[in-house]
Amino acid sequence: MQARPPGDASPHAGRQKRWRPWVLAGVYLLGAVHWLHWKYAGTTLAPAELNEAQYTLEHSIVTVGFILLAAAMLATIVFGRFFCGWGCHVLAMQDSAAWLLRRVGFTPKPVRLRLAQLLPLFAMGTMFLWPQIERAMDAGHEPAPPLRVTADSEGFGSLVTADFSRNLPGPWMSITTFVVCAGVATWLLGTRSFCTYVCPYGAIFSLADRASPTRVRLKVLNGGHGDASADCSNCGLCTAACPSHIRVHEELMDFGRVVNPACLRDYHCVAACPDAKLDIGAARPAGFLSWRKWGRFGVPYDLSWREELVAASVGVCSLLILRGLYDAVPFFLAMALAVILSYAAVVTMRVGGRRAVSFAGWTMSRDGAMTHAGRVFSVAAVVACAALLQSAAVRAHSWLGMEAFEQAADSPAECARAQWHLEWVEEWSVVHTDAVDRRLALLAIDRGDAAGARPRVERIIARGVSPQEAESWRDSLVANPRSTPGYR
Ligand code: SF4
Ligand code: SF4
Repeated sequence: MQARPPGDASPHAGRQKRWRPWVLAGVYLLGAVHWLHWKYAGTTLAPAELNEAQYTLEHSIVTVGFILLAAAMLATIVFGRFFCGWGCHVLAMQDSAAWLLRRVGFTPKPVRLRLAQLLPLFAMGTMFLWPQIERAMDAGHEPAPPLRVTADSEGFGSLVTADFSRNLPGPWMSITTFVVCAGVATWLLGTRSFCTYVCPYGAIFSLADRASPTRVRLKVLNGGHGDASADCSNCGLCTAACPSHIRVHEELMDFGRVVNPACLRDYHCVAACPDAKLDIGAARPAGFLSWRKWGRFGVPYDLSWREELVAASVGVCSLLILRGLYDAVPFFLAMALAVILSYAAVVTMRVGGRRAVSFAGWTMSRDGAMTHAGRVFSVAAVVACAALLQSAAVRAHSWLGMEAFEQAADSPAECARAQWHLEWVEEWSVVHTDAVDRRLALLAIDRGDAAGARPRVERIIARGVSPQEAESWRDSLVANPRSTPGYR
């Protein structure tokens, strides 16, 4: 494969490619305008977040997110994944992270994992399918109500709301999520790894893309596109330019068009073709032709099957531990961390072996000897493992404590068990959580331990509760504890 020539080989496609960052910047501008409108008007259009489609599927409440998802899916069926390439704020962050990394001299290298590719499908099933299956399996389930629009006064504003940030996990957790999902994942697993290994919408759009009659194709030459030997010199520059790691030149030779549903129609390959032989236009839908290719990217995977199983075990355990940890870690962040940790676990195993190992641009071991970077990495791996085990213990005690608390009203033994588990959680947690504070406060009030309840009650109030609730918590410290609202 030749080195990529400087600049864009096709000026027209180069212009389209250069437009994309501006369009993506426009997405952020729209978001800023939306936020400002909410700040000054008090109410605004409900969040245009795709995850709000869950409210429509589960509660029949029409949301802006559902309308956007349906529109994006229809557009994908017709035009391919332009929405991903030109309208997704997470993709903008991933591509920006890749650009920044290249500016500091690091080219992200794709890590090709087999089983992790199932994660977006798993996420899609968890978010959109499983609640439907659960409802259908519930013997006494009621039929879904008709689709409806609701207002804030009914508890949820479906199209207009004052609760603009209702899905956001707080500023620090939001920043952490973006840094990990876009920045760290790109650095360690390659460009667009969030799309490949996490994003449930990507899984939906990939399915829709297979039906799309708009594809990257060899231009109509000599009586029709698809005559690869006549149209394409097979130089591979398109493949080298593709941030989705598609073997573009091979797909063009085999099928006359790109059939991989990871194609986001971003024009990088079209702009890179030195003979301007590519464009994006009408072509036969790909269906499942991409399954004929060996591997996700058309080249062998990076892990052996034994390593895949190790990675899958670490990934599943990490996801179970991290999702919702401290009532704070969101699903997508937990998934991204699980994939990163699963690959890091395999690298740790390899560092102890004979092979030369590199990770994120650093050489970890060479000729069977660990390098300085390898030693630092090994220490970091031990620390990460210890942190994960500690978090697992917190999750286990928390679950046992909550279960015991449910039975505490009828049994002093369960009451003591709940207190023991939840106090363990309180002592060993990195941060206090509202759920644990509330239960420990109630248990302390119940046994007349106002001094024990006070710090927990203060934390509950400090997190922000209504004045009435704050008053009743204060009263409960001095009055009949069983009158505390919400107790049992
Ligand atoms: S796959 Fe997901 S994250 Fe990637 S561009 Fe599409 S919607 Fe955005
Ligand atoms: S195949 Fe071309 S248009 Fe599709 S993602 Fe790769 S570079 Fe972009």
